[in-house]
Amino acid sequence: MKIFCIGRNYADHAKELGNEVPSEPVIFMKPKSALLQTHTPFYYPEFTNELHAEAELVLRISKNGKYIQEKHASKYYNGITVGIDFTARDIQDELKSKGLPWEKAKAWDNSTVIGKWLDITPEMKKNDINFCLYKNKELVQQGNSRQMIFNFDKIVAYISNYFSLNIGDVIFTGTPAGVGECVVGDELEGFIEDESLFELSIK
Ligand code: ZN
Repeated sequence: MKIFCIGRNYADHAKELGNEVPSEPVIFMKPKSALLQTHTPFYYPEFTNELHAEAELVLRISKNGKYIQEKHASKYYNGITVGIDFTARDIQDELKSKGLPWEKAKAWDNSTVIGKWLDITPEMKKNDINFCLYKNKELVQQGNSRQMIFNFDKIVAYISNYFSLNIGDVIFTGTPAGVGECVVGDELEGFIEDESLFELSIK
């Protein structure tokens, strides 16, 4: 299983971190060990003082492929959920300033949360999916798939030019504005439309 993540896919989030809006998708990956298993507690990592939660729509790959054309891309994923790409922002800022890779900031053990999967149905309007993150019962982040710079099909096609996609791989499609800090004791809950897909407390 591979975990792909798209960076800077929402113009307003790129701006809030002082990044340029990209002309092609920004891709990074996390190892399988980055995935928080269900019923496993999430512990605030000892190596950061600035933990950020990025709520994102996540796609589930359902068919193996390489060099997938955009017009066929929708046949290669069949599930969607909301997840969190946890980021040690202080470490990322330091790495970015030195032009170094982001793994220490993004790809550590349990840095990735995936909600309950929803099947993608033909009726689903994939370019109009609302999702949001609540922290301590307060709305902190909300987005809609239409705000993405690169839509699902573009992302799948683009990734497949470089990496084979395999059944069970997942793609985090980027985070909208409103990314914020988390502290021990915070309770996070992620939604697509009105449906709660994960709950998590930071220990
Ligand atoms: Zn992210």
